[in-house]
Amino acid sequence: MHTHIDLHSHTHYSDGELSPRDLISCAKQKGITTLAITDHDTLAGVFEAKQAAKEFMVNLIPGVEISVTWQGKSIHLVGLNVDVDNSTLQKGLEKLLSIRVERAKMIASQLSELGIENSFEEVSQLAKFNNISRNHFACHLLKKNVAKDFNQAFKRYLMNGRPGYVSVTWASLSEAIEWIKGAQGVAVIAHPTRYKLTHTQLVSLVKEFKEAGGDALEVITASTQFDEIRRMSRLCREFNLLASLGSDYHGPTTWAKMGNLKQIPENCQPVWSLWSEDDAVFFNTSG
Ligand code: AMP
Ligand code: MN
Ligand code: MN
Ligand code: MN
Repeated sequence: MHTHIDLHSHTHYSDGELSPRDLISCAKQKGITTLAITDHDTLAGVFEAKQAAKEFMVNLIPGVEISVTWQGKSIHLVGLNVDVDNSTLQKGLEKLLSIRVERAKMIASQLSELGIENSFEEVSQLAKFNNISRNHFACHLLKKNVAKDFNQAFKRYLMNGRPGYVSVTWASLSEAIEWIKGAQGVAVIAHPTRYKLTHTQLVSLVKEFKEAGGDALEVITASTQFDEIRRMSRLCREFNLLASLGSDYHGPTTWAKMGNLKQIPENCQPVWSLWSEDDAVFFNTSG
C-alpha cells in the first residue's frame, strides 16, 4: 500500500489555494505521511513548509514543477527531492517566473482588446507572490462574469487557439532535466496523458526524456484511468523508467483531492525506491 504517499501538490506560491502550512496540515488530516510540494517554477513553498512538516511529522519531499516547451507544446516536468539551495536550479526558475510576468502582461493586453480591462493589475493581486498562472486569469475572468467556471474560462479565453492565449518559450526539455539532475533530484514527466499527444508523440517525448537523463513517469494522477495506468507502466518498462504518483492537488475548492490515488502496478519500480531513510527530509516511508 502506498496511498499515504503523494508526490505532486501546489501551494499559494504558485496556483494552489493553501499556504504551505495549511497544505501540510491537510496532508496530515488525510493520512498522507509523505508529501512532495511541487509548485510551478518556484521552490518558495518548500522553504516555508519545512517547519510545518516537522511539527505535523509529515515527510516533505522538496519538489518543483518546471514549465517546458517541447516541439512547440507546453509540457511539465516534476523535479523530486531536489536540493533547494542549488543556484543553477534557482536561477533557471527565476527566469521562468519572469517569463510568467511578461506573458501575463501580454495576456492582459489581448484581453483588453476584448473589452476586459485591468487584467494585469487584478491577476497581480490574485497571485500573492507574483507567480502568475493562467489559473489566476481564470479566477479573474469569473469575477468579471465573462465565464461561469474555470473550464469555461479556459475554453473561451485561455487555451491554445483562444483569444487570451499567449505562446511563450519555457525551458527546453534537456535544460529542465539538467537543472533537476544538477540539484540531485529525480526528473519526472508530470501527468503524461494530459498533453493531448498521440501515442507516437508521447513515445518520442519519453525517448528524448530518457536520453537526456530523465528518471520517471507520473503513472498515477488523480484522474488516471486503469487503461492509462497500463499504458504508462508499459512505457516505464520499455524505457527503463521509474514510476511516480501524485494528485496534483491545488486546494479544497478544486476537483482533485489529495491522496486517494490508485496503486502503482507491481511491475513498475516506484521513484521512492531511490530514496533512503538516511535522507534528511525523507524518513519513515513505512508510516
Ligand atoms: P500555466 O502554467 O500558467 O500556463 O497554467 C497552467 C495551469 O492551469 C495548470 O497547472 C492547471 O492548474 C490549470 N489548467 C490548465 N488547463 C486547464 C483547464 N482546461 N481547466 C482548468 N484548469 C486548467
Ligand atoms: Mn497548476
Ligand atoms: Mn502540470
Ligand atoms: Mn501540477
